[in-house]
Amino acid sequence: MTEQKLSDPPPPGLGPREPTAPVAPVAPVAPRPGAVVALRPLGVHEARLDPGGLLGRWQRRNAEDTIPHCVDNLHAHGNIANLRAAAGESGDAFTGMWFADSDVHKTLEGAAWELASSPGDASLRSFVDDTTALLARAQGPDGYLNSYFTVAAPDERWRRPEWSHELYCAGHLVQAAVAAARTGVRPDLAAVARRFADLLVERFGPGGAEEVCGHPEIETALAELYRLTGHRPYLDLARRFLDLRGRGLLGPGRFGPAYYQDHVPVREAAEVTGHAVRQLYLLAGMVDVGVETGDHTLLDAAERLWEDAVHRRTYVTGAHGSRHRDEAYGDPYELPPDRAYAETCAAIASFQWNWRLLLATGRARYADEMERALYNAVAVAVSLDGRRFFYSNPLQSRTGHTGSGEEAQARRLPWYSCACCPPNIARLMASLHGYLATAAGDGLQIHLYAAGSVTAEVAGSAVRVDVRTEYPWQGRIELTVTSEADTPWTLALRVPDWCDAYAVRIGGGPVTAPARDGYVRLTRVWAPGTTVVLDLEMPVRRVTAHPRVDAVRGCVALARGPLVYCLEQADLPPGTVLEDVRLDPAVPVEAGRREDLPDFPVVLTAGGRLSEPGASLYATAPARERHGAPLALTAVPYFLWGNRSEGPMRVWIPVAATG
Ligand SMILES: [Zn+2]
Repeated sequence: MTEQKLSDPPPPGLGPREPTAPVAPVAPVAPRPGAVVALRPLGVHEARLDPGGLLGRWQRRNAEDTIPHCVDNLHAHGNIANLRAAAGESGDAFTGMWFADSDVHKTLEGAAWELASSPGDASLRSFVDDTTALLARAQGPDGYLNSYFTVAAPDERWRRPEWSHELYCAGHLVQAAVAAARTGVRPDLAAVARRFADLLVERFGPGGAEEVCGHPEIETALAELYRLTGHRPYLDLARRFLDLRGRGLLGPGRFGPAYYQDHVPVREAAEVTGHAVRQLYLLAGMVDVGVETGDHTLLDAAERLWEDAVHRRTYVTGAHGSRHRDEAYGDPYELPPDRAYAETCAAIASFQWNWRLLLATGRARYADEMERALYNAVAVAVSLDGRRFFYSNPLQSRTGHTGSGEEAQARRLPWYSCACCPPNIARLMASLHGYLATAAGDGLQIHLYAAGSVTAEVAGSAVRVDVRTEYPWQGRIELTVTSEADTPWTLALRVPDWCDAYAVRIGGGPVTAPARDGYVRLTRVWAPGTTVVLDLEMPVRRVTAHPRVDAVRGCVALARGPLVYCLEQADLPPGTVLEDVRLDPAVPVEAGRREDLPDFPVVLTAGGRLSEPGASLYATAPARERHGAPLALTAVPYFLWGNRSEGPMRVWIPVAATG
């Protein structure tokens, strides 16, 4: 390998090739000024999470536990050693998955976002510095950077796109570099990413190889690199990859071309198919390229596929993907709670995709979906201590469950041989405050409620909104608006889709503020220090599924606010089998605090009936189900299950017969 010190001037051709890009927000997704978007993201420096709030605590835990844990495991499992071998600094054999570099890149991205908030974190700083330098040393003279193919399979390079994950890994490198550059944490990582991206343009660009990667990711990454640099060939290549997909270039593979969304051109797809993470990353790339190029056909297709995904194939927790065999979407309404694959990465990808759709369209339904995924399908993946993770997030874990693999465990594991999920959590949580609010011409929009603050330039003046709330445990959101603007502007507050009744007060007085398209819009000249209180009523909801979801027919899920609840073995009398418990519909379900469960601020209490199954697996159906013995039930937030015991759990609860 050619050693290049990062302090060296860039080699010829690697310097700025266009005028300096305009100032863009320091945000996970930063559309260019000319992009066709309805909303503009705020930067991570324009938003802050209060460490006393739930999201702030998640973010602090991510910084103090999850990211250091990921770094430790990258060392322990050979990911870093692989890169050293690729740099020619050891003769060690490659270890781990052939796409193990991507775990380094995602952790690096998370570390960059975190360092933007905590610049004094010396150990994180040294990880970023050391890893950036190592990646530069591991990069080939032509820009190629992938430790598996450099160390273990040099003859296979670029030869098996359906399997290799080379462009997938490249994409995560690019995203890490974009984060490191936008935050200013390590701008020179962008030179490494650009060398690789330039190689991709040369190889796969116009007139080059007509190939796509079996695992989408490069599309959204190249669009972001274009946003960072203004270098149009990156965006053009992202679009070319989208245009080439759906022609069967990847071949049938083991699971058929729909597994990697290569069965139909992306603009013509009517259904989400195949590997859920691949589908969702592809959709993110479609939105990015669509808004940057003004290609409405890509955005139209993404919105059409959203309807299919969310109305027919998404779990009540916001999780995606019901099949273990190919980590894939199932048939419409095929949503078994116990066999749910529901990969953590798919929930994160859904969050990221919905954010892009929200920016593109301003439609509240995308923020609703982000919230549902975040508080349930994403949050459940992390243990209370931030150091154990679910890969698969089923909605039921049976008595006597035996997992057939790492991803089918009834407990969170500290790491995985395929460790895609933990570093994905690290990068999302570290940038979480970048997803709270947006600005648009007429004002500021708050989409996710969390204790903290946001600042923005609105109507030509600086605006600050401080938020106090115990959301999601309580529905009261208190905002203090500080604005020097002497012209009216609009503060838009999302009314979540689960909320049927709410009240707004400004300066202590009630106001009539009908929600339109999912937002209450308050327009006025804001006197500094004006207080706004939004009270979202948060009754317990008994949620039923569409009748075609056979797997949960006759069941309800309990929910309150954005949180889905579950029953856990730990709350049942000893000897009780969870699968025998029925919900008694005659007993009200109430929300309350349990002093003996400090980590579970609001639990639900309900009435149950204990059925008495016979010994036979099958029997002639009785004319009427008998009532069983009554028992008191406690339901806890789904995202917290598995922190007290590995015991059985279920979200969907069978309802006892009445009468
Ligand atoms: Zn994953």
